[in-house]
Amino acid sequence: MTLVDTPATMTGGPALAQERRLVTAIPGPRSQELMARKAAAVASGVGHTLPISVVAAGGGVIVDADGNSLIDLGSGIAVTGVGNSAPRVVDAVTAQLNSFTHTCFTVSPYEGYVAVAEKLNELTPGDHVKRSALFNSGAEAVENAVKIARHFTKKQAVVAFDHAYHGRTNLTMGLTAKNIPYKSGFGPFASEVYRAPLSYPFRDGGLSGAEAAARAISVIEKQIGAENLAAIIIEPIQGEGGFIVPAQGFLPALVEWAAANNVVFIADEVQTGFARTGAWFASEHEGIVPDLVVAAKGIAGGLPLSAVTGRADIMDSAMAGGLGGTYGGNPLACAAALATIETYEEDGLIERAREIGAVLIGRLNALRTADPRIGDVRGRGAMVAIELVDPATGAPDAALTNAVAKYAHANGVVVLTCGTYGNVIRFLPPLTISDELLIDGLSVVAEGLKNA
Ligand SMILES: *Cc1c(COP(=O)(O)O)cnc(C)c1O
Repeated sequence: MTLVDTPATMTGGPALAQERRLVTAIPGPRSQELMARKAAAVASGVGHTLPISVVAAGGGVIVDADGNSLIDLGSGIAVTGVGNSAPRVVDAVTAQLNSFTHTCFTVSPYEGYVAVAEKLNELTPGDHVKRSALFNSGAEAVENAVKIARHFTKKQAVVAFDHAYHGRTNLTMGLTAKNIPYKSGFGPFASEVYRAPLSYPFRDGGLSGAEAAARAISVIEKQIGAENLAAIIIEPIQGEGGFIVPAQGFLPALVEWAAANNVVFIADEVQTGFARTGAWFASEHEGIVPDLVVAAKGIAGGLPLSAVTGRADIMDSAMAGGLGGTYGGNPLACAAALATIETYEEDGLIERAREIGAVLIGRLNALRTADPRIGDVRGRGAMVAIELVDPATGAPDAALTNAVAKYAHANGVVVLTCGTYGNVIRFLPPLTISDELLIDGLSVVAEGLKNA
């Protein structure tokens, strides 16, 4: 086996050869070296899906230090929708880097932050008057959305749903459903957080959206009471929980109930947002207009940025100084976000997300017809998953899921698993991936299923 030299000058972006190329086993010797250093230096709670040492990425590939080129079907968890080192992002961040790197927006403001807020107010669902506030991570933005909703309603309770994922900070751990690995031993969690049942068509016996909403609303009314409830927070399509698309009508019924009961409806679009599902925001697929929208991941081409955008009366209720933070809306991240949004628009990436979705759904449904271990194929746009089950009982098959993912990793395809039961393989390719790479990646997954 030859080791391809990977000089430090190797750059990402679309100039990288768009191919799956294995020149060593995964991990190769240089990646193994980094893994050994990681084990000795980095807390083991900070895990990794693939044991590789990345040196470049762009288009639809990730290149490691041993010269292997892997197909990226994860986008760094739905972040690099515009691809890694997207040219407009590189140019905009470089220019910003050369002017100033930080002032703290709440000390001395700058245009980039305001321009991102203007864009978010324009792109999020609804044509009402809006305001935005910027933060660093998805979890931080979720926390702020809850703060704002409580301040506005002068109420305290918050409802999240079964299978929800909202982050790893204290409040967002409480909102998140899954115990291991997100919560176990990390409590106590924040009070006044309650859980309602979701619409999960594959596993709830075929409840209609209206029936599932009535069930959730009944739990909320009987166990909490609208008079105590500040906010409902929900992912329009659940991410970590298993790419669960609720039955049609579920989300609109919740929005309607919230509006009638002075409850703030928060859409956590951290994973579903920014072109991923073939719309700017997944709320659009059901025509819902959330009071507050939380965005992050796909917003800035890989730079850390998050946002809460929503009704001006709600957003403006917090007192000056009540929202903010040292780095929130950092100028580099704002420059990246503006260039990222321009790239989604100019390069037609919303349409591309739909095309990718058609390829994913088509190929995966064909696999499912031939293989009953694929219990469900679901998702929207470039956010699609398969749920793997024991065909006899429908029981979740996490072992099979892990085996298929391991096979894909060993054969040069980055795929991620998810789901409360650990039995979902999710596909989140960058929207810059070619059909050829996408289909090659899926064929490796199909081989993995055959071999398992
Ligand atoms: C990833 C994610 C978060 C947390 O975002 P971080 O940037 O990791 O804090 C919150 N909500 C959803 C739906 C997510 O997918």
